[in-house]
Amino acid sequence: MDNKIYDISIIGGGPAGMFASYYASLRKLDVALIESLPNLGGQPQTLYAQKNIYDVAGFPKISGAQLVDQLAEQMNAFPCDQYLSTSVTDIKREDDLWILSTNKETIKTHAIIIAIGNGAFKPRKLTFDYDPSIEENNLSYFVNDMEEFKNKDVAVAGGGDAAVDWAINLNQLSSSTSLIHRRNKYRAMESSVENLNASTVEQLSPYIIKDVTFNSDVHSKIDILLKKIKSDDEKTITVDKLLVNYGFISDSKILRDWNLDLEGPFIKVDQQMETNLPNVFAIGDISTYPGKLQLMATAFSEGPMAVTRALRNIYPDKDYFQHSTSLFN
Ligand SMILES: Cc1cc2nc3c(=O)[nH]c(=O)nc-3n(C[C@H](O)[C@H](O)[C@H](O)COP(=O)(O)OP(=O)(O)OC[C@H]3O[C@@H](n4cnc5c(N)ncnc54)[C@H](O)[C@@H]3O)c2cc1C
Repeated sequence: MDNKIYDISIIGGGPAGMFASYYASLRKLDVALIESLPNLGGQPQTLYAQKNIYDVAGFPKISGAQLVDQLAEQMNAFPCDQYLSTSVTDIKREDDLWILSTNKETIKTHAIIIAIGNGAFKPRKLTFDYDPSIEENNLSYFVNDMEEFKNKDVAVAGGGDAAVDWAINLNQLSSSTSLIHRRNKYRAMESSVENLNASTVEQLSPYIIKDVTFNSDVHSKIDILLKKIKSDDEKTITVDKLLVNYGFISDSKILRDWNLDLEGPFIKVDQQMETNLPNVFAIGDISTYPGKLQLMATAFSEGPMAVTRALRNIYPDKDYFQHSTSLFN
C-alpha cells in the first residue's frame, strides 16, 4: 500500500468509522480505515460487547458485539484497506494531499474523516501497585466474554451505570457477585438500581479497595482487601474474578496540534461534517455542532454526509447522490 493515494482515509474504526468506510467504498471511493486497537468496533466492542442496545434503527435489541459483527459483515461487501494496531499521530498538508503519520507507515490521502470517538481510550485502573500477573486471569477492566465469569465468584468495582449493569448481568451466570462502591449512592439509572436492589448481588458500600493479592491457599483466586470509608473497618473477600469499572480516560489531546477548530475536546463541524481544514471531516462522538447527540444513530447519518461532501470536493464532476438500491450492482 506504500505509494497509494487514497480518496478518503478514515481515522478510527468504531461504529462511525466502520459505517463511513462501508459507505465510501459503496460509493466506489478508495478508502483506508485506520484503527489504533487490534480490532474494529470502538466502544460497543471494547466497553460493552455483551450489553444490549435498543436505539439502533432496524434492530429492536442487539448487543454491542453483535452490532459490530453486523457492521463488519456489511463492510465485507465493499472491502477497504484496513490498518489495524495503527495510531494516527499527526496530519500534514502537502500540496493538495494530506499526509497521515502513524506509529507504523505514512498514508497519503485526498480527504480525511476523523472518527476517533473520545480519542484513544484507556481504562482508569486501580491506583495502587499489584502483581501484574493478576491481570492475566483474575483482574480485568473490560468484559470480552461473559462466559469467563460463568460459575465464578465475582466482584465488580464501581458505582456508575456500567458497574451496576455488569453486576446484574454477571450475577445471572456467576456463582456469586459482589458490587464494591465507595459511596452509598450509585451514579446509575434508577431502573438499574431497582434491579440491583431486587437481585442477589451483595452490595459492599461504602468500601474502597486497598489491595489485591493472590490467595495464599488457592492461587487461582484473589483476595481483595476492603476498607470502609471514614472508618478503620477492613475486611477481605476472596473471589475468582474482579472486574473494575472506574470509567475510562480518553485521550484526544493529539488533536490540539492538528490546527482544528475545537470546542472543548470536540471538533467543530458544519452541516456537512466539514471542519475548518480543507477536506477534513469529523463524525461520531468526536464531532460537535448545535444539537449534536452522541448516539450511533446520529453517527450513522454523519458518515454518508461527510463522504458525499468529500466526493463532491475531490471529484466535482461526478454524479453526487444515488440510493444504494441503484449502487449495489
Ligand atoms: C456503556 C456505554 C453504553 C452505550 N450505549 C449506547 C446505546 O445504547 N446507544 C447508542 O447509540 N450509543 C451508546 N453508547 C455510545 C456509543 O457507543 C458511541 O456514541 C459510539 O461508540 C461512537 O462511535 P465512534 O465511532 O464515534 O467512536 P468510538 O466507538 O469511540 O470509536 C472510536 C475508535 O477510534 C479509535 N481511535 C482513537 N484514536 C485513534 C487514533 N489516533 N488513530 C487510530 N484510531 C484511533 C479508537 O480506538 C476507537 O476504536 C454507549 C456508550 C457506552 C460507553
